[in-house]
Amino acid sequence: MAEIMLKFTHVPRSMPDKRPAKQRASDFHEIYDGFSPDAARSQASRCSQCGVPFCQQGCPLANNIPDWLRLAADGRLEEAWRTSSATNNMPEICGRICPQDRLCEGICTIEQSGHGTVTIGSIEKYITDTAWKEGWVTPIKPPRERKQSAGIVGAGPAGLAAAEQLRRKGYKVTVYDAYDRGGGLLVYGIPGFKLEKDVVERRIRYLEDSGVKFKFKTRIGEKVTLQKLRDSHDSVLIATGVYAAKDLKCPGVGSEGVFAALDYLTASNRKSFGDAVPDFDSGALDAKDKKVVVIGGGDTAMDCVRTAIRQGAKSVTCLYRRDRANMPGSQREVQNAEEEGVVFEWLANPDAILDSKGKAKAVRAGKMKLGEPDASGRQSPVKTGETFDVKADMVIKALGFDPEDLPALFEEPALAVNRWGAIKVDYRTMETSLPGVYAAGDIVRGASLVVWAIKDGRDAAEAMHKAMKAAEAAAKVAAE
Ligand SMILES: Cc1cc2nc3c(=O)[nH]c(=O)nc-3n(C[C@H](O)[C@H](O)[C@H](O)COP(=O)(O)OP(=O)(O)OC[C@H]3O[C@@H](n4cnc5c(N)ncnc54)[C@H](O)[C@@H]3O)c2cc1C
Ligand code: SF4
Repeated sequence: MAEIMLKFTHVPRSMPDKRPAKQRASDFHEIYDGFSPDAARSQASRCSQCGVPFCQQGCPLANNIPDWLRLAADGRLEEAWRTSSATNNMPEICGRICPQDRLCEGICTIEQSGHGTVTIGSIEKYITDTAWKEGWVTPIKPPRERKQSAGIVGAGPAGLAAAEQLRRKGYKVTVYDAYDRGGGLLVYGIPGFKLEKDVVERRIRYLEDSGVKFKFKTRIGEKVTLQKLRDSHDSVLIATGVYAAKDLKCPGVGSEGVFAALDYLTASNRKSFGDAVPDFDSGALDAKDKKVVVIGGGDTAMDCVRTAIRQGAKSVTCLYRRDRANMPGSQREVQNAEEEGVVFEWLANPDAILDSKGKAKAVRAGKMKLGEPDASGRQSPVKTGETFDVKADMVIKALGFDPEDLPALFEEPALAVNRWGAIKVDYRTMETSLPGVYAAGDIVRGASLVVWAIKDGRDAAEAMHKAMKAAEAAAKVAAE
């Protein structure tokens, strides 16, 4: 079975690499090795076609997994790809970065029976990478061109999925994004060792070739107002994600060498495009030869620690205030990070950043224990009174993200948001409190997952289509 398991390119999971982080930095490439066709068939044929497709229920897109696994096992890869891409706009991306252990693979019947899950994500990736290689993915040619247009704010996975679905129906689609490239967190958040940037760029090119227009460096709410978009398009989608970083509140947090996770990851991702990034080029945002402490226990924190290892950090420590079992990030990611040499300090909360002449030199951490469960049922961490110091010349805050104040930015007080600032929608239609304006992805759910953003984008596009079709029919009747 060895050849068909997910493999690391550096060391097997059973043999932790004991070398210092710096020495290991150059060894790491991608989580997955490519499948050979035989290995993919062999892995796909492990699916027992159990009759109760739990895997499908575990996938937010309700992907028809058993069917495309069977087709892949039979070597009918083009049909497998057509089946898989019928419900997913970016199967090769989900195959790479979905936390499958919490989704489709976590409830695979074979996994539940103790025989190790069918590696659904890597087969999905293989099928779609093959489709691109073989030229099966061709630009969209809608059966009919429509006069109506949709304006989409945000070129992350929610906006891109909606753009594709609407273009397929023949609408004119324009996507506006504040960044200089499409992809949102797919390009500037998620590191390249998990998701290669050319895989995302290929998707943007495909949409451009399909007639979708992109207007980059266009932050809606600044030069272009939301009202202007509403006047220019028949339907508008807000898919702006969540970018207000939660901050650390402790003495010393303003010291030199303390950074927000997204600033750190964006700089690293921009370097991989060859961009000039002054704060990286000056060494400030480069972890090379530094003692790095990352604060947080989610997937963003895992991306930071693993990026720091790859940049050649002297040491990387992750502080999280709960224990391993209660961390929000994927267990697989923690395992990856541990194998790469990251030290985890569980039940540790930063009390202060200690500095020397304004420069961070250590994090003083308070030891915690788990107390009574809170309203959500999770045990709250409480201080034990003990402290310890971890040396640090770079501290990265990875505590999560909140929505920005969109009603203020868009000067639309009538845009209803919930108490966390996420946009309120009618979940049957994804329509906001503003008629003809829809919302999808993280800006509705709060920080979530790519696969949920795709699902929301598809649902919103369907509702936008229904509304525009109804408006077209009404206009026809009125004209008669
Ligand atoms: C570091 C990190 C790692 C992650 N890793 C994973 C992972 O491994 N797997 C996974 O499933 N999920 C992961 N996620 C979560 C995932 O990236 C998000 O859930 C997903 O990208 C949300 O998609 P979205 O389209 O809603 O928003 P985004 O991807 O955030 O895209 C929003 C876009 O809107 C643009 N925008 C914002 N405001 C404006 C404006 N006013 N005008 C114009 N444009 C605007 C932004 O520039 C951006 O391009 C990660 C998140 C982070 C931060
Ligand atoms: S989209 Fe994600 S959850 Fe769904 S089958 Fe693919 S990897 Fe699994």
